[in-house]
Amino acid sequence: MSINTQPTASHYIGGAYVEDTSGAPIDVVYGATGEVIARVHAATPAIVDRALEAATAAQKTWAAMSGTERGRVLRRAADLIRERNRELSILETYDTGKPLQETLVADATSGADALEYFGGLAASLTGETIPLAGGDMVYTLREPLGVCVGIGAWNYPTQIACWKAAPALACGNAMVFKPSETTPLCALKIAEILTEAGAPPGLFNVVQGMGEVGAALVTDPRVAKVSLTGSVPTGKKVYAAAAGEMKHVTMELGGKSPIIVFDDADLEDAVSGAILGNFYSSGQVCSNGTRVFVQTGIRDAFLKRLTERLAGAVLGDPLDEATNFGPMVSEGQIGIVERYVRLGIEEGAELVTGGARIERDGYWMPPTVFAGVTDEMTIAREEIFGPVMCVLDFDGEDEVMARANATEFGLAAGVFTRDLARAHRVVRGFEAGTCFINSYNDAPVEAPFGGVKMSGVGRENSKAAIEHYSQVKSVYLRLSPLEAPF
Ligand code: NAD
Repeated sequence: MSINTQPTASHYIGGAYVEDTSGAPIDVVYGATGEVIARVHAATPAIVDRALEAATAAQKTWAAMSGTERGRVLRRAADLIRERNRELSILETYDTGKPLQETLVADATSGADALEYFGGLAASLTGETIPLAGGDMVYTLREPLGVCVGIGAWNYPTQIACWKAAPALACGNAMVFKPSETTPLCALKIAEILTEAGAPPGLFNVVQGMGEVGAALVTDPRVAKVSLTGSVPTGKKVYAAAAGEMKHVTMELGGKSPIIVFDDADLEDAVSGAILGNFYSSGQVCSNGTRVFVQTGIRDAFLKRLTERLAGAVLGDPLDEATNFGPMVSEGQIGIVERYVRLGIEEGAELVTGGARIERDGYWMPPTVFAGVTDEMTIAREEIFGPVMCVLDFDGEDEVMARANATEFGLAAGVFTRDLARAHRVVRGFEAGTCFINSYNDAPVEAPFGGVKMSGVGRENSKAAIEHYSQVKSVYLRLSPLEAPF
């Protein structure tokens, strides 16, 4: 299947494609080859204004519909996404470089799950009745927030657009979404599909641009809520800007998550977890378990088996479904990874495998493993956001828990052990929002996803997301006589 990667126009506003070539050009580069595959233009202030106007108008129509009707639109969109999964997955592969083998099962399908799940919930978002003395009562109304802004990172452009749009729209909000400037293509398709599914024009709008377009959206008084997926430094700026007008926020930020492998772990499962938690999407996953703490009794066996299993990585044309490891998203990102590899070597970590950029077109860095990593090394402290695994040794449980939690981040954490009591004790001790026992990086829509500490505020997916896209109005109803002091 061949697809056209150049979108009809840069933005999608009011149910239609909109162009304004006076905005700065943004070239879309395919990570596998370095070729420019599309060009869009950053939103001008007039485009931002038009998107917010369209969203403001659509939100009123949408909120007046019943939850059942809203849910039907979202579920129809989920069905359309599934029908077009291959086409959407190919576009995701061009946008990000991720292999088609991955995008066919992890991106549009995950977006469809979110639309289906929140479409199903939309009709049952109700308030409660609270009885009081004397027959009085309070009832609550669960109301939308208004116009929500979604701002995306570049690693999961379809999934991020859907994970934000689905709960927002289910609750009766409208959305203006700004994709990452690195991956501007996929969200436009989701906007098209929502319109086709029956969403009123303006309900879900997409505007392109760099950080300043995001900043203009965040500070606009018409916006009630901002949901960002991005790095901690951007999160701090966006959170601070949103605070100026007391806007609601969801912050899905970065991490440096631990995976702890005890001596009694199933070795194959532990190696699988470490591979999934470091090399899926070429390591460009926020929740990756990039600090792999391995108990000294199993260390050598773990490294041996890991090295053997890495021989199964197939680097090649991402559109060939046999390829299971793709390029980095951009020249900028591979440059960051190369710098960290240099720092790892300089600071004394042992490079077990990988580490050198592959000399071919595009941005190719093989799976890279450092052993003998210590807690104070830069590669053990900072988020790299690439295919670089740090293996650290440990002896005892108390020691490893203290070390695992000694980070400003708190997105995810995993433990591999056959001892169930220990597994539960360890996850209770983790300072992280999303934990895994004998698994890693699963993200079903039914489960809350998000971080603690610097990794974020709020939760995406599950019923928990409803709290972040709606507010409760309390209505006091007096049935007894009303007394006053005079
Ligand atoms: P980034 O922080 O550079 O950019 C994220 C988005 O914010 C982009 O769309 C960017 O244009 C926008 N932006 C930048 N400055 C802004 C400003 N001042 N105001 C408003 N918007 C602004 O992140 P990235 O490099 O695109 O993505 C990688 C980061 O995202 C990593 O740290 C990763 O861990 C994180 N991430 C987190 C999750 C999660 O769910 N927790 C998921 C994916 C990625």
